[in-house]
Amino acid sequence: KKAEWAKLVNEPTVSKDGQHVELAANIGTPEDVKGVLENGGEGVGLYRTEFLYMGRTQLPTEEEQFDAYKSVLERMEGKPVVVRTLDIGGDKELPYLDLPKEMNPFLGFRAIRLCLEMQDMFRIQLRALLRAGVYGNLKIMFPMIATLDEFRSAKGILEEEKQKLLFEGQQVVEKIELGIMVEIPSTAVLADQFAKEVDFFSIGTNDLVQYSMAADRMNQRVSYLYQPYSPAILRLVKMVIDAAHAEGKWAGMCGEMAGDETAIPILLGLGLDEFSMSATSILKVRSQILRLSKTEMKNLAEKALQMKTTSEVIEAVKEIMK
Ligand code: PEP
Ligand code: MG
Repeated sequence: KKAEWAKLVNEPTVSKDGQHVELAANIGTPEDVKGVLENGGEGVGLYRTEFLYMGRTQLPTEEEQFDAYKSVLERMEGKPVVVRTLDIGGDKELPYLDLPKEMNPFLGFRAIRLCLEMQDMFRIQLRALLRAGVYGNLKIMFPMIATLDEFRSAKGILEEEKQKLLFEGQQVVEKIELGIMVEIPSTAVLADQFAKEVDFFSIGTNDLVQYSMAADRMNQRVSYLYQPYSPAILRLVKMVIDAAHAEGKWAGMCGEMAGDETAIPILLGLGLDEFSMSATSILKVRSQILRLSKTEMKNLAEKALQMKTTSEVIEAVKEIMK
């Protein structure tokens, strides 16, 4: 099987009935790019920039960040790279920020909420990104967006930093796609409104499932409720994809679900444009999609959306994959 997959490294990902989708990788550091290319990744769908900030005693400088982003963009040689701005808080802490303990960190001061408040820190990251964007195909996405106002504020700050850089005579990227992660159910519900203003969506199912089912993604006691294949989650995913397409935008997914063998037939059927996963899953997923007809998976997805339980969905996929 491994030898069979290896032949697919430079092949496009096309379903049996000729529909193309993009298989991208999730990375945490510039060093991870090697594995992305070796495994035939068509882009980076999620660059988790938290790692630049973690395991140290102070914030990374603009130059340090610029070097990291530039390195990823150059090594990806023009392939799309979606960089997520700092998603700290929740389970990821930065001791040097000295933030007060919270009762519910996952529902608290994290990600874009924190960046919009600690703007000095946020602006440095955006400046580094705007400058690095010259070296490749950069797209920026904001994590944990709950309201349009948050997106507009983040976009406004980015625009301000761009103008400042231009005034300073720095080279900055001309046009840049701006997207959001859909990790919060209310954002999925209003996806039609967001789609008018963002350039793309990336569905973060790790958090979307946790928030939709009100089940902590780390808590074993309630792990039976952590159900990515629940018809409820599938309906949210469909809302996001349909909303994007209605505005001529694209929708990707960068949660674990995007690389999951059982989810993929349904996601293909729902029309997901980009699947971002750990690099080592890419070739396996490509070989799976080559064997699937998107039209047939559309039927499967439509049925799954009407099912009552997760186990019915899993059974239906098993049947199709036989
Ligand atoms: C997600 O929530 O699905 C996601 C990709 O982000 P993270 O796993 O970093 O929270
Ligand atoms: Mg998340």
